[in-house]
Amino acid sequence: MPITRLTKPDSKFRLDDVSTDPPREASKQEAAERLHDLGKELLELQELMWGARTHSVLIVLQGRDAAGKDGAIKNVVGALNPRGVAVSSFGVPTKEEREHDFLWRIHRHAPRAGEFAIFNRSHYEDVLVVRVHDLAPKSLWSERYDHINDFEELLAEHGTIVIKFFLHISKKEQEKRLLEREENPSTAWKLNVNDWKEREVWDEYTEAYEDVFRRCSTRHAPWYIVPADAKWYRNLVVAEAVAETMRDYRDDWLKTLERNGREGREELEEYRRSKGVRHKG
Ligand code: AMP
Ligand code: MG
Repeated sequence: MPITRLTKPDSKFRLDDVSTDPPREASKQEAAERLHDLGKELLELQELMWGARTHSVLIVLQGRDAAGKDGAIKNVVGALNPRGVAVSSFGVPTKEEREHDFLWRIHRHAPRAGEFAIFNRSHYEDVLVVRVHDLAPKSLWSERYDHINDFEELLAEHGTIVIKFFLHISKKEQEKRLLEREENPSTAWKLNVNDWKEREVWDEYTEAYEDVFRRCSTRHAPWYIVPADAKWYRNLVVAEAVAETMRDYRDDWLKTLERNGREGREELEEYRRSKGVRHKG
């Protein structure tokens, strides 16, 4: 499966070069089967990570309105044990949040060892909406790319596996989804006039996003550009990317679990010896 993964800064990256549609050869039926298998694998990897407590996973979801951030979260989290998952949504900052640096409200939601954190929007809003709508002076937001890279490096050094997704939809697909929301009583609660206003600055957002991908793509915190016009393909790419990333740690986690098990057993035996207790098994 061709996945667009950006692992280093690239001043020439263009969003228009990445399709919003699934590749021609992708099949919805096969995707459903694959997604089912990936769900099982993700659950198993989660259990290993939970037991080993050496790493955590941070999934960052960004995208325009109606790009499917909520849908992708439901899909990924649905496969996991909720015990080890926290979802945080970042909206317009509160007064208290605005009175701090932009990472203040973000950092405390970073995942603990063994756990998943999923960000529905993130620190990136501070170089996206803030830039497009002039919510802070350029001198302030233009420094944030470096701060973000340093922040994500810090997380990675502490064992956090950072995986960032941009759900890439076309302007046409967005219009279709926004209109559908109006017609469907069960989704009408999502209606927001702001979503239509944001469409008027579509190109400004494209530029702002491109600068994010050009400057904040690193080996330890790559960006995935996910074709998101088809929900089934979007879900597959996100699940595939998370599983693929975590798979690299599988053997390490197994070793840690084996070692911890051995140490636990030895401690138990020592305790029983000291008590003169004999135990079968
Ligand atoms: P939603 O994701 O639909 O709940 O909307 C959340 C809104 O909060 C979006 O319009 C975001 O652009 C906005 N938002 C998120 N973070 C920030 C931020 N740091 N500054 C200003 N607006 C933000
Ligand atoms: Mg919205």
